[in-house]
Amino acid sequence: MTDTRVDVLIAGTGAAGLRAALAARMAGAERVLVVSKTESGVANCSGIAWGGLSGAVGGADTDHYASVLAEYSEGIAQPELARKLAEASGPALEELVSLGVESQVHRAHLTVSARPRHPGEGLTLPLLRRCREAGVEFAEPAMLVHLLRDAQGCRGAMVLDLVSGDYCRVLAGATILATGGFAGLYARNDNPAGTAGDGLALGLLAGARAIDLEFATVFELGLAEEGCPQDGCYFGPAVSAGVVTDDSGLPLDRAQRDEHWRDASLGVERRDGRYDLWLDLTQVTPEQWLEEKLALVRREILLDLPVSERPVRVSPLAHFTPGGLMIDERARTAVPGLFAAGEVAGGVFGAGRPGGGALTDAIVFGAVAGREAAEYAARTPRADTPAPTESLPSLSSAPAARPPSQVLSEIGWALWNYVSLWRNGPGLEACLAWLRALEPPASAGPVAELRALHEARLGRFVAQAVTRAALLREETRGRHHRRTDYPEPDAAWQRNIIWRVNEDGELAHEVV
Ligand SMILES: Cc1cc2nc3c(=O)[nH]c(=O)nc-3n(C[C@H](O)[C@H](O)[C@H](O)COP(=O)(O)OP(=O)(O)OC[C@H]3O[C@@H](n4cnc5c(N)ncnc54)[C@H](O)[C@@H]3O)c2cc1C
Repeated sequence: MTDTRVDVLIAGTGAAGLRAALAARMAGAERVLVVSKTESGVANCSGIAWGGLSGAVGGADTDHYASVLAEYSEGIAQPELARKLAEASGPALEELVSLGVESQVHRAHLTVSARPRHPGEGLTLPLLRRCREAGVEFAEPAMLVHLLRDAQGCRGAMVLDLVSGDYCRVLAGATILATGGFAGLYARNDNPAGTAGDGLALGLLAGARAIDLEFATVFELGLAEEGCPQDGCYFGPAVSAGVVTDDSGLPLDRAQRDEHWRDASLGVERRDGRYDLWLDLTQVTPEQWLEEKLALVRREILLDLPVSERPVRVSPLAHFTPGGLMIDERARTAVPGLFAAGEVAGGVFGAGRPGGGALTDAIVFGAVAGREAAEYAARTPRADTPAPTESLPSLSSAPAARPPSQVLSEIGWALWNYVSLWRNGPGLEACLAWLRALEPPASAGPVAELRALHEARLGRFVAQAVTRAALLREETRGRHHRRTDYPEPDAAWQRNIIWRVNEDGELAHEVV
């Protein structure tokens, strides 16, 4: 096993990780290494994002944006974080121009654009270019699988090379988690593969705290056909052009769909297709298919599906997770030397966010994390003896009895069945029992299974925390945590559930 020493180690090359890397270099960090599981700036939520960034721009002031954030937070955002986002949003978005990002400014938001279904690359690719020019180093595809820590704090991480299957130890003055959210853990979701909550689990296991894990934003309708992208964001024109029906062909309007899904959530037996509906596009005319937006949906999303012959399967899709690692206004977690920014962090939005808020959050707190991490690394003496290394699973010539990818898929269905659109006590208990029974194997076959093994190991941990949080919150708060057995908001629950790992390695919570 080889050791590498860097000043700042960053996991993730979405908007948060790239912005952090640039800020760390600008703040004087000499060696900044960014590790990414997937193609930098492209194969992540930031790259496929619709490209809207909201904030105090285009004639809207800080107070206006603060009030928008408050409206969506359902009363439980961390006030200092929301305030920081509102105050920093204007300067941070305006600064993007000097970083090479071209955008159109509108009232209270700006938009970036790039190729179809990847407008977010209009943000990430210029940032990536700037990072390379500034001498930031990249390791890809590779993943953080364990954080190294000693009495003083976080000392770097164990990194898995996803080509060779080898581990190495990256000793870092400071470490930033910018690994995105955990919506990609759900079986039905519109996130790029790998958005599986790794960083959230790594942070918790290293001693950080997490907040608001029970909330998950679910996109109303997207394509859910095997072999096609699960896409909600860019699929809207198809939904508008067709007719949504239930299994019997009965058309359902928006309110009826929601009622249908509420009923479908009841019952503890596993039914993976419980939220599936059908979109009938057979009556769309050839002329309509030529319209720009519909033509794009057909070419990029519907692919070869015989849409003029049969309805296509549609479903809600998990989209965004506002909860995550607890940070302060300086993007610090509870572990010295460990920072977090972007969707992996929680508390900024409370129960929900306005459109365009996530990318702004990634840019604002990414820049803060990069600067703070560089300063921390500069003033903290290097560890003479590296922290002890975990014994980690390795490649094995024998295939695992239960392939890790299968465990990962089961975690996804457990969450989808019971912790998605609607929740209830018996379903959440069933989910916990299902998750407990899913012990990932200790070794993997091919290298792809080694990645899945770590994602399953970390994802199962996240899924358990999410399910327990949803079970604890005995109320309905906004649209992102709805309980059929507690259908009303409860003022006594205008509080946050905070998670940590106790001395026995178990998840523990407090309600504050
Ligand atoms: C379809 C879609 C459209 C959206 N549109 C918008 C929008 O218009 N406006 C808006 O504000 N928000 C939007 N969002 C949400 C927004 O895109 C995300 O919240 C935001 O991009 C998150 O940025 P991030 O940098 O935190 O994480 P991501 O962009 O998700 O990047 C995470 C990175 O971490 C890496 N990674 C993960 N685990 C590891 C590991 N263990 N080791 C190393 N690397 C790891 C991944 O490979 C990836 O590079 C959209 C989301 C989706 C899915």
